[in-house]
Amino acid sequence: MSGRLRAPKGTHDLLPTDSERFAAVEACARRVFSSHGYGEIRTPTFESTELFARSVGETTDIVHKEMYTFPDRKGRSLTLRPENTAGVVRALVEAGIQETPRPIRLWYAGSQFRYEQPQAGRYREFRQIGVELLGVAGPAGDAEVLAMLFEFLGELGFQDLIATLNCIPRGEARAAFSRALQEHVRPRAGSLGAEDRRRLEENPLRLYDSKDPEAQRILEGAPSTLDFLDEGARAHHVRLQELLRAAGVRFVESAAIVRGLDYYTLTVFEVASERLGAQNAILGGGRYDGLVESLGGPPTPAVGFAIGEDRLVAAMEADAREARPVIFVIPGSAAELDYALAVSASIRALVPGAIIETDLTARGFPKGLSRAAAVLERPERYGFRASAVRAVLLGADERQGEKVTVKNLATGEQRSFARSALAEELGMARDR
Ligand code: AMP
Repeated sequence: MSGRLRAPKGTHDLLPTDSERFAAVEACARRVFSSHGYGEIRTPTFESTELFARSVGETTDIVHKEMYTFPDRKGRSLTLRPENTAGVVRALVEAGIQETPRPIRLWYAGSQFRYEQPQAGRYREFRQIGVELLGVAGPAGDAEVLAMLFEFLGELGFQDLIATLNCIPRGEARAAFSRALQEHVRPRAGSLGAEDRRRLEENPLRLYDSKDPEAQRILEGAPSTLDFLDEGARAHHVRLQELLRAAGVRFVESAAIVRGLDYYTLTVFEVASERLGAQNAILGGGRYDGLVESLGGPPTPAVGFAIGEDRLVAAMEADAREARPVIFVIPGSAAELDYALAVSASIRALVPGAIIETDLTARGFPKGLSRAAAVLERPERYGFRASAVRAVLLGADERQGEKVTVKNLATGEQRSFARSALAEELGMARDR
């Protein structure tokens, strides 16, 4: 049977314009994060299933019902990574985190996989850009990653975003908070679904992940995380806020941000954009002081965040792609193809950042120019943003006289000059 194949549900292709937008965002991440001393890490797309059960948490939605888990040919249970922090920590422990000078500053970008119900802004394969800072216990660590995050968002043109900040109690205080939450919800549990009743008994903090409006309504009157902080946690939270104000990071406090992963301790935060509609969280992050130890490493405080790159790109008004000159080099006939290739190579060397496309069909100027016109009409199919567009026409005269004819495709103006004058004549990066 033949039929057209489609991408699996919940995935999306990035064709040239989209892929260039993503690449521009990733280039900006690399520039900003590396300027703060963060190095890039790339970990495998799949890991042993146990890694996620031990880190993200058995009773979280992610591990409970959203993982792509499969046995390999030898029967080992593997899982496509649903997030990247666990893999980063696993890699560091494996590489010998004890010997690595602290703090450890890392960033990553890559695909993550969750079996969720696809809708606008929610995919089964999506991309995250994340940052991990390990080895800093104090609130200056949280402040560094948040300030760097806002610098990055600012570079991408987001001027008005606000972080929502909370502090989750740890240790005995967390247990007390969980009990208080259970006591608040239990008398009302009759109106909850089976899933939320399971959360209530197994891991009450996870009730905050519920999408049921009834659960959300019940939680509105629930005890606040902030009333359960031990003294050290409170001091951390207060000092972090001072540091964020000093760094100019805009935030509001909210006891309702609890986040869907078990490894968070103390600081948690999110940033949302109203431009995105219902699935409006662009990113989430927080502190995970216990994770390294639970994965077999030495006690290591840590803090980080993960940005949903697909949502980030969707929320961007400005186009982060760099505009580049586009030059179509068109031979008049097959006899000028060698000359055209040589001229293309010289232009590529002379105009850094330009896109030079040679008409390899060599079917003449009208056909070559109509290809250029088609690209100009549907630039979104081409991928690049053009700052200036030219055609370089190379007929027999040009070839014999070592000349070139350059046509400005915006104005139609056309000029011929010696090939040796290309350098001066192509000072075109700035005009349109
Ligand atoms: P999390 O790893 O759950 O803390 O999510 C961090 C960010 O990743 C979220 O704020 C979203 O922007 C993004 N994200 C999470 N799940 C998805 C998904 N299924 N599709 C697209 N983006 C997602």
